[in-house]
Amino acid sequence: MGIVKTIVWFRRDLRIEDNPALAAAAKDGSVFPVYIWCPKEEGHFYPGRVSRWWLKQSLAHLEHSLKSLGAELMLIKTDSTLATLVECINAVGAAKVVFNHLYDPVSLVRDYNIKEKLVELGISVQSYNGDLLYEPWDVYDESGHAFTAFEAYWNKCLHLQMEPVSPFPPWKLVPASGTVKNCSVEELGLEDELEKSSNALLGRAWFPGWSNADKALTEFVERHLLDYSNNRQKVGGNSTSLLSPYLHYGELSVRKVFQYVRMKQILWAKEGNSLGEESINLFLRAIGLREYSRYLCFNFPFTHERSLLSNLKFFPWNADQANFKAWRQGRTGYPLVDAGMRELWATGWIHNRIRVVVSSFAVKVLLLPWRWGMKYFWDTLLDADLESDILGWQYISGSLPDGHELQRLDSPEIQGSKFDPEGEYVRHWMPELARMPTEWIHHPWDAPLSVLKASGVELGFNYPKPIIEIDLARERLIEAIFKMWEMDAASRDANSDVMNEVVVDNSDGTKNLAIAKVVENSGGTENSSIPKVLLKERIPCPTISSNDQKVPTVQNSKHYPFYRKRSKYMEGEKPLPGDLHKHNNEAGTSRTDEDLRSTAESSSTKKQTTSRNTFSVPQLSYSSEDNFFPVYDSSDLKQPWQEQINMQQSSNKDVTGVSS
Ligand SMILES: Cc1cc2nc3c(=O)[nH]c(=O)nc-3n(C[C@H](O)[C@H](O)[C@H](O)COP(=O)(O)OP(=O)(O)OC[C@H]3O[C@@H](n4cnc5c(N)ncnc54)[C@H](O)[C@@H]3O)c2cc1C
Repeated sequence: MGIVKTIVWFRRDLRIEDNPALAAAAKDGSVFPVYIWCPKEEGHFYPGRVSRWWLKQSLAHLEHSLKSLGAELMLIKTDSTLATLVECINAVGAAKVVFNHLYDPVSLVRDYNIKEKLVELGISVQSYNGDLLYEPWDVYDESGHAFTAFEAYWNKCLHLQMEPVSPFPPWKLVPASGTVKNCSVEELGLEDELEKSSNALLGRAWFPGWSNADKALTEFVERHLLDYSNNRQKVGGNSTSLLSPYLHYGELSVRKVFQYVRMKQILWAKEGNSLGEESINLFLRAIGLREYSRYLCFNFPFTHERSLLSNLKFFPWNADQANFKAWRQGRTGYPLVDAGMRELWATGWIHNRIRVVVSSFAVKVLLLPWRWGMKYFWDTLLDADLESDILGWQYISGSLPDGHELQRLDSPEIQGSKFDPEGEYVRHWMPELARMPTEWIHHPWDAPLSVLKASGVELGFNYPKPIIEIDLARERLIEAIFKMWEMDAASRDANSDVMNEVVVDNSDGTKNLAIAKVVENSGGTENSSIPKVLLKERIPCPTISSNDQKVPTVQNSKHYPFYRKRSKYMEGEKPLPGDLHKHNNEAGTSRTDEDLRSTAESSSTKKQTTSRNTFSVPQLSYSSEDNFFPVYDSSDLKQPWQEQINMQQSSNKDVTGVSS
């Protein structure tokens, strides 16, 4: 045993097993585990109520585990993570800080700055991969470009070597002594008094903590994985793994998940179990999407603010607060959308299919800025995860080359009959529609008056009329797309003489910056519009391990002209007007309806269509494209939805007025 004293900085790696930073520190000598809660540094991405509830339970769980291994977890609330780390280093006399990597835009910048400052102070800093199968900087295409489509990225990943799971967690920790001003989990203030009553029910359904994550994984693999392929589209019930909150807080090692599932794959392949094999492929693709979300954030660190296909910069969003409120409250008049939003409100959880339905509705029908929806999901989801949230919203809003087309507008009525054929999901979350017959449950506005009466539904009173008719929404969407193209073209004309952008990848320390350059795809045709990050030069940094985090920052945001054109329009119900059709024909490719069922199943790589891309360092201030996050009344997020609806009804507002 050496004598090195190491600060182990826990963040979203709240586990003992397969935790590379903890294992390395334990191997070297004594450890001083800390969790630092710094709300100020979270900025706009301060976690929501249910996510903080989860974090609180998970920290308590980790605290117990570490104690049983011999070390105490220091919980510290602060205004500056850096200052607190320095305080810990001084208190302990530590020479080293270790942590596991994070890839969201806020952490990328914070971690880079902290690492730089600590190294300046002569502290050794080592960081590790505790969150991914493959580090984002290890997966590039043949020419050293970052992938911009999932399929190609994931194929490449599946051919790469993966680090094995650390076989044994540390069985004993030697504590490094030192006194710092720490507090209890309760004193961190993750849950205020008002929130406690709303959170009370969460504890009946969810069991945060790394050892519970382990149980959830075993239960899923042994009992439900086989039917994942058949069941994953069922919107009611527990048809998927429900592992996302555990994965978000790093309570489960994704490498462990992968290896466990791979073992099953080998077994089922040997048995000729084709259903099992199909289920495993689909499940691993879902894990791949999580990897891809981190990959995009790392390589395109602006994507929390701006779409990857930056033509959306010119999209004429309808930043209507009343529509946004109706969507949040489940008062759009479209039962499947409303049921999804009520479930999200009440439980902090919705199925991936429902996430796609409600998010697409916000963007395509209400024309709400996608970043508003992304922020609302962030605030309300139990598994709120910035990278996956960004990926999800960009997928559905036409912002990614292989996501849903911007023109595609699915009718919630048709989706309702597809995904909730008996209307059970809607009836469960919409008591006011509980007595509607199945025939009308997804389109009550078409129901005869006698049926509405018998069901106790009074449209415009106890359930709203559709916030906008779907045909009108289609026309509005098409108009908006035309407008976007016009502005895009005008901007291209105005910027026709710009230079290539230069992207700088901060490997570590300013002297060791690897220069990356944004280049156009070859060919110059309409599908060559995604700028790629090309690593031009890599200079090894002697002060860090080969595992160490690399942080892309970007210099220069000269505008760059690119085209964006696409094929295929709506869900096959109405042809688009001539001009739009022409645009689409130029794009050349399309995808099948099946492909679009879920972001986890997106399989066809479409041709890329974009206009111009600008790059920026992710700062903790927010501007650009759809410039701001809406500030919704925080009380909206605290009351149970039913209370809100009652309040709305009694004041007789907002029932029909939301469409104005
Ligand atoms: C608009 C939108 C927003 C989303 N926001 C989030 C979010 O904030 N946090 C989050 O964890 N997921 C998000 N997702 C992805 C997906 O809906 C959830 O990961 C999934 O529903 C979680 O359920 P599960 O664990 O049972 O998934 P399973 O189907 O069992 O999948 C296993 C794991 O794979 C990962 N995964 C599956 N699908 C996706 C996906 N499409 N993108 C990224 N990872 C995926 C998750 O980590 C998940 O736990 C979002 C999807 C959309 C369309």
